[in-house]
Amino acid sequence: MSTTPTLSSLNADTETYPLLTKALIDQLRQYATLRRVESGEVLYRSGDLAVPLYILLSATVEIVQPDTEGERAITILYPGMFTGETRIIGGQRAIVLARVVQSGDILTVRSEDIWTLATRNAQLSEILLRAFILRRTMLNIRQLGNVVMVGSQHSANTARLREFLGRNSHPYTYLDLDTDDGSQDLLDRFTISSAEIPIVICNGKAILRNPTPRELADCLGLNDDLRQNLLRDLIIVGGGPAGLATAVYAASEGLAPLLIESHAPGGQAGASSRIENYLGFPTGISGQELASNAATQARKFGTTIAVARKIVQLNCKRRPYELVMDDGSVLFAKTVVIATGACYKKPAVPDLARLEGHGIHYGATYIEAQMCVGEDVVVVGGGNSAGQAAVFLSQTASKVYMLVRSKDLTKTMSRYLIERINANPSIELLCETELTRLAGDESLSEVCWANKKTSQTFTLPSRHVFVMAGASPNTVWLQGCVALDDKGFILTGHNLPLCVPRGSSPVWPLTRAPQLLESSLPGVFAIGDVRAGSVKRVASAVGEGAIAVSLVHRVLAELY
Ligand SMILES: Cc1cc2nc3c(=O)[nH]c(=O)nc-3n(C[C@H](O)[C@H](O)[C@H](O)COP(=O)(O)OP(=O)(O)OC[C@H]3O[C@@H](n4cnc5c(N)ncnc54)[C@H](O)[C@@H]3O)c2cc1C
Repeated sequence: MSTTPTLSSLNADTETYPLLTKALIDQLRQYATLRRVESGEVLYRSGDLAVPLYILLSATVEIVQPDTEGERAITILYPGMFTGETRIIGGQRAIVLARVVQSGDILTVRSEDIWTLATRNAQLSEILLRAFILRRTMLNIRQLGNVVMVGSQHSANTARLREFLGRNSHPYTYLDLDTDDGSQDLLDRFTISSAEIPIVICNGKAILRNPTPRELADCLGLNDDLRQNLLRDLIIVGGGPAGLATAVYAASEGLAPLLIESHAPGGQAGASSRIENYLGFPTGISGQELASNAATQARKFGTTIAVARKIVQLNCKRRPYELVMDDGSVLFAKTVVIATGACYKKPAVPDLARLEGHGIHYGATYIEAQMCVGEDVVVVGGGNSAGQAAVFLSQTASKVYMLVRSKDLTKTMSRYLIERINANPSIELLCETELTRLAGDESLSEVCWANKKTSQTFTLPSRHVFVMAGASPNTVWLQGCVALDDKGFILTGHNLPLCVPRGSSPVWPLTRAPQLLESSLPGVFAIGDVRAGSVKRVASAVGEGAIAVSLVHRVLAELY
């Protein structure tokens, strides 16, 4: 075996491909079997399921990515190193090929034992996880995934699929029809017309023409592990910060939760370019990084995560509860945590999504206020949150323009706020006015609006627009199963109607009082932005996820 550096001397490169010490390899042996491998033997291929972890004792292994041209080299692993990247943790399908180039001995840890190893041995867990995450990042940066996408920067479906793969941290090679010379050749070779883009070549074999995210997820085997007949202790609906936190705490405490996410892990936070106010990240963290790390952490403890799968109905007449997925299949759960969040109502203005995080804000905290010192800013919306934002921002901004669609604020805003706005010379209230255009290359630079009555338009050079037009909760799928407030958010705990029904709203049915985050349906909890009265922050969503798990334990104890 080559000379082994001390662990303390590891740098970023050696953390990606670290050499394990003899002592660490000895600790691994109890989870592993020893075998000899011969040169040329393929240990696993892209698309293989539940791939073991291989620790090389005297063999050497090359890692390559097969593609339409042949193979692209990724790295060579020498004795003392180990195979794998993040997908190995949840037993998901491999995305690269591993082939022995020099015969020798290896240790094999079965897929189902990797989790046991990771939970029992903290030092090994840290080294393995760090290497897996760094390797995945490297594959992403070098576009060395098992997916080739041919698309166009002018195609909305291409953008949608790229966003889906990016949000799922899935490495892929992208060829743009407008700028990459080889892309047309590739389409010709597979006799595909450019009208069918985006084209996705999955594992070098299957060719998908303009697939949905779900078709792509299925092709990549992202959702293999949905054993439907199983009665589960806990199903989490929604994979934003609240759902992911529930998954981490539930799985680390011995429950084996299933998390169903209709798009990709991260929710609204996953779309944020930088979260500056989340505890422990003084320089901020991108929503994508936070979500991807949280998903890896949840999988490490044993959570199964399904992406691009939506829950469309809850059957709540009897227990166990039944959750119906978008393909009609049914999942069974003793307890359910609803973490489906909310969608901010967004004005239908071109470029809004592109400029999110680059001048378009959905919250006005101290951080945003500091960005606006001495500047002209725009607040869109006529509710209390818009009013509070305008008053708050007026303390630092030079001027706040408030765009309100209705004739006045009386029906939508508290009286005290209306008075403050009217008395504030730094706020200009513009009723019957709509945002019409946003401009800016990398970030917002210009904002346009129009008066609906006079059609008069106005253009303001500005770097900040605050969209405070309210949020709609993702609760339509609950169809009368749980009590909601008048805006559709889920009522929980002491806010529930206890005995007197409000209209057709369900009431709490048991003699015991509902728990803190429990909905009107016993054993069904609501957390994060979907809950009535929630704070709409990443930290509070995460905190509620942790609390919900302790409440789930109590309900499960009641059932036995
Ligand atoms: C652009 C932006 C920037 C932000 N910046 C900050 C910030 O800097 N700091 C901060 O504290 N907060 C910030 N927020 C607010 C913060 O992101 C939210 O409060 C937080 O994400 C709420 O988490 P959640 O898990 O409750 O809901 P969400 O993040 O909304 O996640 C809900 C998830 O459920 C999924 N889902 C919905 N319906 C279904 C269904 N039927 N079946 C399966 N899955 C479903 C959705 O796809 C989504 O992934 C920001 C929000 C936005 C939009």
